[in-house]
Amino acid sequence: MFAATILTLFPEMFPGPLGLSLAGDALSRGLWSCQTSDIRTQGVGRHRAVDDTPAGGGPGMVMRADVLAACLDAALDPGDARPRLLMSPRGKPLTRDMAREWADGPGLVILCARFEGVDERVIAARNLTEVSIGDYILSGGEIAALAVLDACVRLIPGVMGKAQSAAQESFESGLLEYPHYTRPREWEGRTIPEILLSGDHARIAQWRHEQAVRITQERRPDLAPDKR
Ligand code: SAH
Repeated sequence: MFAATILTLFPEMFPGPLGLSLAGDALSRGLWSCQTSDIRTQGVGRHRAVDDTPAGGGPGMVMRADVLAACLDAALDPGDARPRLLMSPRGKPLTRDMAREWADGPGLVILCARFEGVDERVIAARNLTEVSIGDYILSGGEIAALAVLDACVRLIPGVMGKAQSAAQESFESGLLEYPHYTRPREWEGRTIPEILLSGDHARIAQWRHEQAVRITQERRPDLAPDKR
């Protein structure tokens, strides 16, 4: 089973939206698990401090290496083989391939930072892989961790209704997805492309492929097959 352990100052944010719908059903069916560990419980002193001022000066606060390491060490069994992620805008951008690899594994340990980030030393000392969900700054790692988990959980076998629906989605084929239509046949004067009503499955498949190639070339030339 895919076991997620999340280290956070806000454990009540989990499973959050992943307790509903597809991921929530899978959670209650035992296809994955979601454990949190409250970083505050490892805080130091009377105030259970988890952060301190940056060495060298500057604004904001930095999460302490000793506190984060103690939290990781308490949350992990010896020999725990799960990848350990640190959510970070400096990290490797999340992709479908990364989600696929993690979904096929034993689960993830995810450290969610706050403030300016974490003391650099804990990253190497606890072998953390920095992962980003995009080139913008969130106020904490929790929403990023939810995005990573959602991307993984839907790929766990048995989570999605039709095994096929994942196979067709954007990025699976290296292309963005073709456009979808459903009833009504005419809506606000707009019709469904005739070919989709033809019943000719070979021509429909060909049309969809052409649309996927066109949309990928227009919107994401970096993904287009001839650019790879
Ligand atoms: N000072 C940092 C930003 C800190 S934001 C910098 O300039 O790089 C606080 C925390 O939110 C980060 O440590 C990280 O855990 C999380 N976070 C913010 N943006 C993120 C992103 N795009 N992807 C993943 N995590 C992010």
